[in-house]
Amino acid sequence: MSSSIPVRRFDTLVIGAGGGGLRAALQLAQADAHVAVVSKVFPTRSHTVAAQGGMNAALANVLPDNWHWHMFDTIKGSDYLADQDAVEYMCRAAPRLVVELEHAGVPFSRLDNGKIYQRPFGGQSQNFGGDQAARTCAAADRTGHAILHSLYQQNIHAKTHFFDEYLALDLIYDDEGTILGAVVMEIETGETMVIEAKATLLATGGAGQIFRTNTNAHINTGDGMGMALRAGIPLQDMEFFQFHPTGIAGKGMLITEGARGEGGYLLNKDGERFMERYAPNAKDLASRDVVSRAIYTEVKEGRGCGPNADHVMLKLDHLGMDVIQKRLPGIRSTIQTFLHIDPASESIPVYPTAHYTMGGIPTNRHGQVVAPLGQTAEETVQGLYAVGECACVSVHGANRLGGNSLLDIVVFGRAAGNHIIDYLKENRYHRPMADDSIDKAMARLSRWGQKGEGESVRQLKDELKKTMEDFCGVFRTDEILAEGVDKVIALEARLQDARLQDHSKVFNTARVEALELENLMDIALATVCSAHARKESRGAHSRIDYPDRDDERWLKHSLFFKEGRKLDYKPVRMKPLTVDSFPPKARVY
Ligand SMILES: Cc1cc2nc3c(=O)[nH]c(=O)nc-3n(C[C@H](O)[C@H](O)[C@H](O)COP(=O)(O)OP(=O)(O)OC[C@H]3O[C@@H](n4cnc5c(N)ncnc54)[C@H](O)[C@@H]3O)c2cc1C
Repeated sequence: MSSSIPVRRFDTLVIGAGGGGLRAALQLAQADAHVAVVSKVFPTRSHTVAAQGGMNAALANVLPDNWHWHMFDTIKGSDYLADQDAVEYMCRAAPRLVVELEHAGVPFSRLDNGKIYQRPFGGQSQNFGGDQAARTCAAADRTGHAILHSLYQQNIHAKTHFFDEYLALDLIYDDEGTILGAVVMEIETGETMVIEAKATLLATGGAGQIFRTNTNAHINTGDGMGMALRAGIPLQDMEFFQFHPTGIAGKGMLITEGARGEGGYLLNKDGERFMERYAPNAKDLASRDVVSRAIYTEVKEGRGCGPNADHVMLKLDHLGMDVIQKRLPGIRSTIQTFLHIDPASESIPVYPTAHYTMGGIPTNRHGQVVAPLGQTAEETVQGLYAVGECACVSVHGANRLGGNSLLDIVVFGRAAGNHIIDYLKENRYHRPMADDSIDKAMARLSRWGQKGEGESVRQLKDELKKTMEDFCGVFRTDEILAEGVDKVIALEARLQDARLQDHSKVFNTARVEALELENLMDIALATVCSAHARKESRGAHSRIDYPDRDDERWLKHSLFFKEGRKLDYKPVRMKPLTVDSFPPKARVY
């Protein structure tokens, strides 16, 4: 079968045209590597475009700051699960990479003295846990938009080759596990193609669509993670899914943490500024897991607002029209569109919403994908890299700090690009193709090649998302998670009987949705199984039955394998590159 498929050859294949993929591609194209970027949507529609609040870097433009404080905050925010070498690398690189983005054309907001504007975000401190810092570099509340467009323009200039609206189906790998490229499908025509590459980089973003109420685009279906699982690579730390405290209640759209950074705060039905009770120092700018749990608790204990007492209010009206127009124009317009109110004069109903995939494909700080070799050692997967939200490097650990993801994609996109350049020098020729794995990818596609009688893909997807919301949410117990595992396994079995329905009008779109659902199903299973197994509370993983962090037994990364739904663990890298480690401490804000 595989011999009839057209083949294109590149040095490097980048799957995903968000900030992570484009930053890596730029590094490669500028070094004259022949690089292809495949994206299932037009590149500037990638989800990075939605990032609002900004990107962290210790520039010290507004308040004193340095990268070491940033490193401390990130590790504390991660509840000590982040790998400290990767965090040091990221925080040290941040100031230089913000300036680099500025030179690439990102129109950052400015202070009166002309320097880049920085706003306070959650979990930021001066001097290792002291006063609030202001570390988030912003282009108003459209920072991701500005970064993505600049990176795209730079890639066009550097002659990166784009395959727009192509869906990557699966990785191609030989018997030794070396990755040789991927099988892709042009969405409009359904035509398939093999893209051969000496190095392949996954930059396919997060998987927020496993939850019903989320801030993510419909395209965030974790395809790269699904491809990795099917190629035998485990997913790391999937139990840690971030719920953002301030989604629009009942709808899920994000109100950036920058709104609280600009001085907004949360109120319960009694008009009480309740965060003062949960985080006496940081208050509304405590880290996201802390604020989400506080909102959930207020509502559960009967202090929620509205006729159903099911949300709290975010107050911005005291900031004044000037600040709102200058610093939060996109937020104002989102609220006017979806709630028909003006945040300059009325408070906004908010509730936690699924937001960010902290786990993902395990990598080292060069972006190389790593696979376990026994309990303590690991080896790199030849020819495969991963960066951004689909990867777990791990700089976010059990809880990501706001503003650290745009940083993550730029820092590790660049690092992976640099490493691939060296890899290409040592791997100058394409290896022989592996027809078996091409045939497997084609078989997965042809399963969705016909319409017929059977379970509906859309119905299964809705049930999966509701199940994850009900059984793998902010607060978890053994009983709830065990039921969640059973339910997702049952849905996975039903997926085998699903068919594209006769009324599916746009055939390839329906086919893409079915292929995406296969990925979502695998990722939901990885998430709920990993959550069920971890018997402690750490960061975003909050177990009512195990309320404390247990460093003795659980200061380790989890690894979920598709085959046999097996779980394994590996140590956290506690040793930074040049400074002393930050040992685990009680985490208070
Ligand atoms: C509403 C919102 C606001 C945010 N605000 C901030 C913020 O202020 N600061 C911050 O640091 N972080 C923020 N984040 C998080 C941050 O934006 C994301 O984590 C980051 O942009 C992800 O970038 P990425 O390159 O990994 O993936 P994405 O930008 O999601 O790109 C993924 C790419 O992969 C492609 N793709 C996926 N699957 C396939 C496939 N099968 N075949 C081909 N292509 C595929 C897509 O087409 C896309 O091009 C925010 C997130 C959200 C949802």
